[in-house]
Amino acid sequence: MRFPVSLYSSMTRYLLSMRLRGIERYPLVLMLEPTHRCNLTCAGCGRIREYQSTLNKEMSLQECIHSVDEAGAPVVTITGGEPLLYTHAPALVEALLKRRKHIYFCTNGLLLEESVHKFRPDPRFTWNVHFDGTPVVHDQIIGKPGGFQKAAAGMRAAKALGFRVSTNTTVYRETEVSDLESLFVQLTDLGVDGILVAPGFSYEDVTGEVFLTKKEILEKFRHIRTWQDRFPMISNPIYLDFLCGDRHFLCTPWGNPTRNPQGWKSPCYLITDTHYPTYAQLMKDTNWDYYVSGRDPRCEQCMVHCGYEPTVVRQMNGSDVLRMIRWNLRVR
Ligand code: SF4
Ligand code: SF4
Repeated sequence: MRFPVSLYSSMTRYLLSMRLRGIERYPLVLMLEPTHRCNLTCAGCGRIREYQSTLNKEMSLQECIHSVDEAGAPVVTITGGEPLLYTHAPALVEALLKRRKHIYFCTNGLLLEESVHKFRPDPRFTWNVHFDGTPVVHDQIIGKPGGFQKAAAGMRAAKALGFRVSTNTTVYRETEVSDLESLFVQLTDLGVDGILVAPGFSYEDVTGEVFLTKKEILEKFRHIRTWQDRFPMISNPIYLDFLCGDRHFLCTPWGNPTRNPQGWKSPCYLITDTHYPTYAQLMKDTNWDYYVSGRDPRCEQCMVHCGYEPTVVRQMNGSDVLRMIRWNLRVR
């Protein structure tokens, strides 16, 4: 199984309840960034640049829990920054597990080995460790020699304690498909439960030509898509079809809303017009129709999973559902 059955049943119940209640716009995954503080300065990172002046701010534990309750999404991705630097990380995870949320805890892995014992394994809790290439390539991207090995040691420690561990890989313009293939062999040998791969996001605050255009995304992902039965990949196959140019979707910018120390980020995970103090205001005051239309120039090259995977979930037809079930059951 690529995803636990409990995740599918929670998501199905949630989708049905939203439809029965006639709610048109609702979140699927809350992107919670309790702090943007980080122990790395990766070249492609928009967060540490956009929030440079507030890097040391963090949300209180109560603010985090209240935000999770405000959004009501069944899945919470705890990200940042490096969320292992968040003061209340273990207490936050415990509080969300008590609320029966599914948690993906994104980390660069550098502190994982020394921090993992502060958490407890749970079928609803998954570590999501970032690897952008084989050791030399990864260390170059994150600007930290030995970073790959440190994250791999964290991953081994988490697996040994019985945690679910997935990985997240960002594909940049310079990424060699052959290097990704070698990386995925290594991660599979390490016993990873799921490999997520997505194109890099073209953050406004990152300069330089590191991000892919739509055409380049199509070329690279046509290779990557062929590995779905070879590695435990958890990138949604219908979203991969979209990345390969075989399906066409409009964005669902409210599907994965982002909450951080500045408030609720509008309109989406990637671009910022403003922050709202409440989730209700984000939903009421953002001009969703404009962003769905793709008319904003900042949306032109965007195929980011936070915007398009929720569309996949919202628009799945009967044969898509069957395909997803078969795909989830079939791992290599
Ligand atoms: S580890 Fe993540 S948050 Fe930190 S600099 Fe790198 S990409 Fe940004
Ligand atoms: S297309 Fe991308 S940048 Fe535009 S609203 Fe959607 S997620 Fe945001």
